[in-house]
Amino acid sequence: MTKCPKCGKNMKKTKIDYNIDEEKITVHDVPALKCSNCGHITMSTEQAEHFYNILERLHGSSKSLSLHRTLSSDGKSLILRIPKDIANALNLSNKDEVEIWVDGQRVIVEKASA
Ligand SMILES: [Zn+2]
Repeated sequence: MTKCPKCGKNMKKTKIDYNIDEEKITVHDVPALKCSNCGHITMSTEQAEHFYNILERLHGSSKSLSLHRTLSSDGKSLILRIPKDIANALNLSNKDEVEIWVDGQRVIVEKASA
């Protein structure tokens, strides 16, 4: 059972309508997880990848893709897992080097140029 990242209560499977404002598109019945306590909505990895595939079909591109991810930790550093489809879109594979930098409140990850 997935826990709500905001309040820690259990999240339930649900379906949401997802508005993509810049595209003026609404995707209906997107599988997601909803917190029964605070109403926070997120997606599991499989749900996010499934949704990404829908978006990719709509856009034909991954440029404006954003996914909600939960950070994990190995005790020292925070670990951000990069979904398979994003890795594929950027042609990233294991042991590839990436540049990470901070722009205001954003963290930008870019494949390092060889
Ligand atoms: Zn919650």
